[in-house]
Amino acid sequence: MLKATGIRKSYGNLQILKGVNFEVQKGEIVSIIGPSGAGKSTLLHILGTLDRPDVGSVELKGTVVNRLNGDLLSTFRNQNIGFVFQFHHLLPEFSAIENICIPAFIAKTNKKQAESRALELLDLFGLKDRAQHKPNQLSGGEQQRVAIARALINNPSIILADEPSGNLDSENAAGLHQLFVSLRDNFHQTFVIVTHNEHLAKTSDRVVSMKDGLIV
Ligand code: ADP
Ligand code: ADP
Repeated sequence: MLKATGIRKSYGNLQILKGVNFEVQKGEIVSIIGPSGAGKSTLLHILGTLDRPDVGSVELKGTVVNRLNGDLLSTFRNQNIGFVFQFHHLLPEFSAIENICIPAFIAKTNKKQAESRALELLDLFGLKDRAQHKPNQLSGGEQQRVAIARALINNPSIILADEPSGNLDSENAAGLHQLFVSLRDNFHQTFVIVTHNEHLAKTSDRVVSMKDGLIV
């Protein structure tokens, strides 16, 4: 599904990634763990085409994504990659369902189709009665599930998550991890997750450990 080869990245004189090779199969949950500053977020950003490697290539479903530019890259990213962050980044003035639909509207999906898919996801996540709520009317766990629904609306090949449960209490974090596992089991959804959470790492199919810019 995803293959990164020989990834190097520096900021100024500082080498952050020193030759990383990384592969993910379809339907796999891979956790990336390691100390702060190891380069985990930098790698995730490069895998997600939010940042470019200095050297190396990232291939997603056979497309070498680091060769794409401009609109082609934005379109590819919006249709193939879902992002989940530690803080949900929902737009406060929009309802849950409107937030979920944003990537679908960017992909020019018609309103009816987008809303019907969003409702399906809300239902699947036990949030059907929250569709019209604004983010500040939702609990932390609910906000994060809305963010995951938003990440899923365009049926992306892969979900990239950076500390998705970092801002949740242990009960909500466990619920979120259960959701990832059920999306894998029922829809073969693929995940790469940067996490400090041991429980999440344990429920992954594979744990990759990073240190000083390398996978160890
Ligand atoms: P981790 O996610 O493992 O904590 P990061 O990938 O966030 O590590 O960061 C690794 C190192 O790269 C840190 O020292 C960080 O300060 C530095 N870094 C990350 N992004 C940038 C950037 N855009 N410019 C300069 N330095 C950066
Ligand atoms: P995390 O806690 O998830 O590892 P960071 O706080 O390291 O994230 O980074 C948050 C954002 O800031 C990232 O987009 C990263 O690229 C950027 N960043 C991190 N360190 C630096 C830095 N020293 N200079 C510029 N940007 C940075």
